[in-house]
Amino acid sequence: VGKDSFGNDYVENLKKNGISTAFVGQTTDAATGTASIIVNSEGQNVIVIVPGANLLLNFEDLKRASDIICKAKVVVCQLEITPAVSLEALKMARASGVKTLFNPAPALADLDPQFYTHSDIFCCNETEAEILTGIPVGNLEDAAKVGRVLLERGCKLVIVTLGAEGCMMISVEEPIPKHVPAGKVRAVDTTRAGDSFVGALAFYLAYYPKLPMEEMIRKSNYVASVSVQAAGTQSSYPYRKDLPQDLF
Ligand code: ADP
Repeated sequence: VGKDSFGNDYVENLKKNGISTAFVGQTTDAATGTASIIVNSEGQNVIVIVPGANLLLNFEDLKRASDIICKAKVVVCQLEITPAVSLEALKMARASGVKTLFNPAPALADLDPQFYTHSDIFCCNETEAEILTGIPVGNLEDAAKVGRVLLERGCKLVIVTLGAEGCMMISVEEPIPKHVPAGKVRAVDTTRAGDSFVGALAFYLAYYPKLPMEEMIRKSNYVASVSVQAAGTQSSYPYRKDLPQDLF
């Protein structure tokens, strides 16, 4: 993050929530990345991302964190830092037998194919799926088609998130696509529901690795569906204490 008020608030917020800031750096070379979000009356959003300090994260930073990465239970990567750095993190994790969860957001049409082969779980939304495969996702059958294409590219397990419809999952082990529906809720603001989903999934992979994948996805759908019922992004994510205890 930058050495500015957004950056300071960000670090403060992580500390307040008990999240380690040991590897969070503050720089004067760029401002903290920001995003302007517009939400319509159906809770759908448009986001203008203005990257900043996040794009300065480099291989040196990664090396400094290598001990933590290689001892982790799960490593989650996406594309809001330089893609080559994300890919290197996935490779480091893989080399140590750490589970890798990759979310190709924001989507890149010319994504390095190594991202497919280095992701244990490849989780994309409908827009990302279309940019990556050229297949527009309008229904469950389209999502299944995308899943098959991404498996062919080397993913072990693909999850396509489908907003109110939940997710489609397909894997090398279970090549018949499976729809995992989300509960019906009144959406107020769906912004970053995907991050809520990915975060919840990472939690289940780390803490309940023996749960069947379908069950992890069902629970993650639930957590994400709570987040769409409140305004904001991080502010809409529920705390563990406010969720039904049978999720844990
Ligand atoms: P993104 O935020 O990346 O566009 P999605 O819109 O596909 O991702 O949403 C991710 C997940 O959030 C879905 O798989 C689902 O679990 C949950 N979700 C999103 N929108 C709704 C909704 N309207 N009702 C219930 N759950 C939702």
